[in-house]
Amino acid sequence: MTVEEKLSTLYQLQQTLSAIDEKRALRGELPYEVQELEDEIAGLQTRAEHIQQDIDSFNNAIAKNQADIQDAQASLARYHQQLDTVANNREYDMLSKEIDFQQLEVDLCNKKIKEAQQKVFEKQQTLTNTQSTIEDRTADLEHKRGELDEVMQETKDEEAKLKVKAEELEKKIEPRLLQSFKRIRKNARNGLGIVYVQRDACGGCFNKIPPQRQLDIKMHKKIIVCEYCGRILIDPELAGVKTVTKEEKPKRKRSIRKTKKAAEDAAVPEA
Ligand SMILES: [Zn+2]
Repeated sequence: MTVEEKLSTLYQLQQTLSAIDEKRALRGELPYEVQELEDEIAGLQTRAEHIQQDIDSFNNAIAKNQADIQDAQASLARYHQQLDTVANNREYDMLSKEIDFQQLEVDLCNKKIKEAQQKVFEKQQTLTNTQSTIEDRTADLEHKRGELDEVMQETKDEEAKLKVKAEELEKKIEPRLLQSFKRIRKNARNGLGIVYVQRDACGGCFNKIPPQRQLDIKMHKKIIVCEYCGRILIDPELAGVKTVTKEEKPKRKRSIRKTKKAAEDAAVPEA
């Protein structure tokens, strides 16, 4: 394999690996977003359960106070009857006190019922709001899950194809070169281990490349790396940049823009 072939194969491998990275990035956010929504909904459901428990306990308190009122009213009815048949003043005073006490009890229970009813009303509103938030989030979740399923379906097949292609290319490259390429790629933030020369600069870190080095790159006689970022450098012509940008879907827009711009540039001297 000539250096030229090595560089060209490496560049094809780079493009294939970048395409795999893109597929992964595409669904990268979605599983995270789905997980976040699931967690949020679970939290809201726990909150709704707690609110419901509060409502239940207030309702229980209301029922208990209502039962207490009935007891007190039964006692009151009995005491009022007894008042008609009292034997002396002492007995009358005792009964009167008992009646006052039971009346206070009824008033107190009514006050507690009113307070609890207010609490139930407030809690019920909070519960309604929480439930409507749960409904909104559940709709969001279903939507995101659908999106994720779709992306997964789409990317799974394409990714598998790309992986096969990457493996085939990797087999063609000598192990030592492949190893150093992978190391460079791993250390590079954008996952690029080999880049083409763009406007006299490295296409990875955009540092200028000295003219002599650029000539060496164009010669394809040895593998040259960027002295700043360590990425392998390839001459755009050998990289087949133009044909590649036309083939690759994500870059289509840019290539259209480039072509348009080139057409505009070309039109200028004529006008
Ligand atoms: Zn560089």
